Amino acid sequence: RAKADGRGTYRFFETGMDARAQARRLLEMDLRAALQRDEFQAYYQPIRDVASDRVVAFEALLRWNHPHRGLISPINFIPLAEETGLIIQLGELVLRQACSDAATWPNDIGVAVNLSPVQFKNPNLIASVTEALEKSGLAARRLELEITESVLLQNSEATLTTLHELRAMGVRISLDDFGTGYSSLSYLRSFPFDKIKIDRSFVSELATREDSVAIIRAVTGLGRSLGIVTTAEGVESDAQLELLRREGCTQAQGYLFSQPRPASDVAMMLERPRLRASA
Ligand code: C2E
Ligand code: MG
Ligand code: MG
Ligand code: MG
Repeated sequence: RAKADGRGTYRFFETGMDARAQARRLLEMDLRAALQRDEFQAYYQPIRDVASDRVVAFEALLRWNHPHRGLISPINFIPLAEETGLIIQLGELVLRQACSDAATWPNDIGVAVNLSPVQFKNPNLIASVTEALEKSGLAARRLELEITESVLLQNSEATLTTLHELRAMGVRISLDDFGTGYSSLSYLRSFPFDKIKIDRSFVSELATREDSVAIIRAVTGLGRSLGIVTTAEGVESDAQLELLRREGCTQAQGYLFSQPRPASDVAMMLERPRLRASA
């Protein structure tokens, strides 16, 4: 189609592709160097039990502390890390860091780590989880691994075997971003998840859309019947929290309590119920 638009457009199009490819190559080189320079850091966001209002866990969220560009969000580098396979190294780094940080927290506080679908294609996944637990001394039951539906979409036999092995080690498995994919209910039948994380999009529309309330009600009800913990993501207001409490949602996570913060702020996040100001 670019060709049919005339020669000038075609060349412009090619140049555009080139610039993108080059930007991608630069970012890839930067990512590799950043791994060498140790510029990645896990930040932590508290997850609270709605009924007791206590912090029960923290989710590890990766940040790239770039010397010139400042803190870079994972949405800006995880996709390329996945394409290039660098996510394997990054994933192991987060796992090790999260487990050794969590080992210093009170015994009843868990840690949740996000796993990329690419990590499930790596035959070393079980070994790296085992190693992270052993080296840190963290009890397996305190570790939660968050996966999205897309993990179950690929090579599902091998993936299910891996999930069952992790489960057998005592690690808990959460289904992240629930409701954003295609056939969420069948996934709940294919693997006995410990937790469903209701995607932020449903929570943010709670005050303005009746159907979001109905969806939250349905998912928390489903969780109750199946014996699965439900966690609402992206809770930003007291009104949202009140509604979640009324609907019997088990846990809540969001800026209402705190943004993700460095490990050095965990003690403060445990002491102070709300840290709304930005990190
Ligand atoms: P996620 O696992 O669904 O994480 C929740 C995201 O929502 C985080 O974004 C968090 O900072 C943000 N969030 C939490 N509360 C609120 C709120 O009240 N309002 C709003 N607007 N946002 C809130 P973040 O840290 O930018 O991470 C984005 C995504 O990147 C994560 O989504 C996860 O899919 C991925 N990610 C982060 N760390 C890792 C990692 O270590 N490994 C892998 N594979 N993926 C990661
Ligand atoms: Mg997550
Ligand atoms: Mg999520
Ligand atoms: Mg998400």
